[in-house]
Amino acid sequence: MVADRVTASEDETQAVARELAATLHAGDVLLLSGDLGAGKTTFVRGLAEGLGIDPAEVSSPTFTLVHEYRGNGLTLYHADLYRLERAATADLGLEETGFEDGILAIEWPDRLSHALAGARWVRLEVVNEDSRRITIGPAEAGPYDRT
Ligand code: ADP
Ligand code: MG
Repeated sequence: MVADRVTASEDETQAVARELAATLHAGDVLLLSGDLGAGKTTFVRGLAEGLGIDPAEVSSPTFTLVHEYRGNGLTLYHADLYRLERAATADLGLEETGFEDGILAIEWPDRLSHALAGARWVRLEVVNEDSRRITIGPAEAGPYDRT
């Protein structure tokens, strides 16, 4: 799913994420970019819902770098790299195996030291208080591709 949408509420942003979730497969990686408050974590709640996981489980993983949410289907792995220095991400193991049974969603992917193979980007931009622009595309065309 490639998209360019403007949402008018948190619920609408979650609905876009649910739509995307329906198209995802085990091993997919999503790079969620956007400023603080742009709606990245909100988007992850929508992904959770779409994967049959209680969205209330999703919080900002401030101290735990990767949270794992299990539902009936695919596991959702949620990383927030905001506090990391770029060099440290090499130690996280995100570049390695272990997430193939689920979806890996990464906030602040600009902290990554390596491009992740096959990753796709989701960009959230603040339009105004209640409105966000969401662009979803292949990683190859995204702002964080470093290959
Ligand atoms: P981030 O993880 O990018 O820092 P959050 O998802 O934690 O952002 O927070 C987004 C904030 O913006 C929430 O307070 C949410 O209610 C608010 N908001 C307002 N309008 C929208 C919208 N259209 N989509 C997503 N969030 C919105
Ligand atoms: Mg967040």
